[in-house]
Formats: sequence, C-alpha cells, structure tokens
Amino acid sequence: MSRVSIENVSKLYDGSGDGEGKIVAVDGVTLDIEDGEFLTIVGPSGSGKSTLLRMVAGLEDISSGTIRIGDRVVNDIQPQDRGVAMVFQNYALYPHMSTRKNMAYGLKLTSDLSDDEVQQRVEEAAEMMGIEDQLGKKPGSLSGGQQQRVATGRAIVRDPEVFLMDEPLSNLDAKLRAHMRTEIQRIHEELGTTFIYVTHDQEEAMTMSDRVAILNHGEVQQIGTPDEIYNEP
Ligand code: ADP
Ligand code: ADP
Repeated sequence: MSRVSIENVSKLYDGSGDGEGKIVAVDGVTLDIEDGEFLTIVGPSGSGKSTLLRMVAGLEDISSGTIRIGDRVVNDIQPQDRGVAMVFQNYALYPHMSTRKNMAYGLKLTSDLSDDEVQQRVEEAAEMMGIEDQLGKKPGSLSGGQQQRVATGRAIVRDPEVFLMDEPLSNLDAKLRAHMRTEIQRIHEELGTTFIYVTHDQEEAMTMSDRVAILNHGEVQQIGTPDEIYNEP
C-alpha cells in the first residue's frame, strides 16, 4: 500500500479546433490520499473525475503539477511501473480470452513471475472474488456481475499498491450494486491497500469511503468524511 499525493495537477485538452481554445478538465487539484485509505471522488458528469483517475493511472498525460505514489514522482513513469491497477466501468475484458487468461495476461506481460506463480495468483484472486468456477469461460458467457468480478480479480492479481476504480458498478442493477459494494469493502479490508474510487453514486460514496472528495468543474470543492460531507448541516 502506498500514499498517493496529487499536487496542483491540471489537465488541458485541445478544444474542438474551431478556435474555442483549451478545455480545462482538471484545474489545479491537490489531494493527499493516505496509505490504505479508501478515497471516493464524486461529482457531476464532466467534472473531471475520470481524467484525474486516468492521470494517476498513467493513461493520460499530466498538463501541469506532480503526482507521487509512495515517494516516487510518477509523472513520467509508465502505467505498468506505477504499482497501480485499474478497474473500468465497462470492465475492458478481452472477449476472446477465458477468465483465467484475462486475469493472467497483463501480469505475464509486465512481470518476470513464472507461469506457476502467475497461475497461483490467478487462483487466489479468483477465490477471493468467488469466480473459481468461471475460470474456463469467456466474458460473453458471464453475467454482468461476474464480469465485474473478473475485472476486479484481474486487478487483484497485479498486487498493486493502489487500486483505481472508475465507476466499476454503474452497469449493474441496483441490488447487485449494493451487494458488490460490500464485496469491494471486504477486498479493501482484506488487502489493506489504498483505493481511489470514482462514482456518481452518493450511496456508494457514503457507505464505502474513509473520505469523499467532491469535484466540480475540475476543482476540489469539498473534502471530508462521509459524515462531514453528507450529514453536517
Ligand atoms: P467525469 O469523469 O467527471 O465525467 P471527465 O474527466 O470524463 O469527467 O471529463 C472532464 C472534461 O474533460 C469534460 O468537459 C470532457 O468533455 C473533457 N474531456 C474528457 N476527455 C477528453 C478528451 N479526450 N478530449 C477532449 N476533452 C475531453
Ligand atoms: P455467481 O453467479 O458466480 O454467484 P454473481 O455476481 O452473479 O456471481 O452473484 C454473487 C452473489 O451476488 C449471489 O449469491 C447473490 O447473493 C448476489 N446477487 C447476484 N445477482 C444479484 C442480483 N441481480 N440482485 C441481487 N443480488 C444478486
């Protein structure tokens, strides 16, 4: 697990090319996420949540500012070398690969673990997510809930210092979403890892987080415990 520190980070995108100039997606955000903390980022659509998370993941260049994971500045470090693993809203599973392969593939490419070690990690993560029986199946034959579990299992396999989750439950129905909330909380407790979790669902923010940061127009508008954010007058 690791502390993440985001220091005065901005992201500017080019506008539509018709002279509208730059779009400021993230505007001077400073956030310190403690070792082992579960931080949720909420805010309206277009407020910059995804962009901020993708910059921590290394999937998006940083326009200005500094991101540290542990004591390393990661601005110019490749995604696979940052000690992070990300779970996407659409799961981003490879449709032609079995669950087992989906979970093993990234780790095989980017680590020097032996096949046996990779398989052992896959089996442990599958057990943790309750998908041992799905290892031979391809994503197309799994339910949405099961695909979500595979995506989370694939992140666990990487043994990251920091988990990044971008609306991981928003494609599930309400009951399954509620169930998966408790599952993700359990994973966080078992691993003790730092989590940065993006959602637009207030229920998720209230029940899962140590702290909640509210983003608006690319800026942190408010940060505090769920109680401070949602229950204080
Ligand atoms: P959120 O995740 O809160 O919905 P995003 O981070 O997706 O917000 O988007 C923040 C802003 O940046 C929005 O105005 C969005 O249109 C813009 N944006 C996001 N990605 C791009 C991109 N690749 N090119 C141009 N503008 C983008
Ligand atoms: P699996 O089918 O492999 O058990 P699921 O993610 O589909 O994996 O379901 C795991 C558990 O989640 C179920 O045992 C049940 O308790 C709960 N669950 C699954 N689907 C739903 C649903 N649609 N609504 C509420 N709870 C659900």
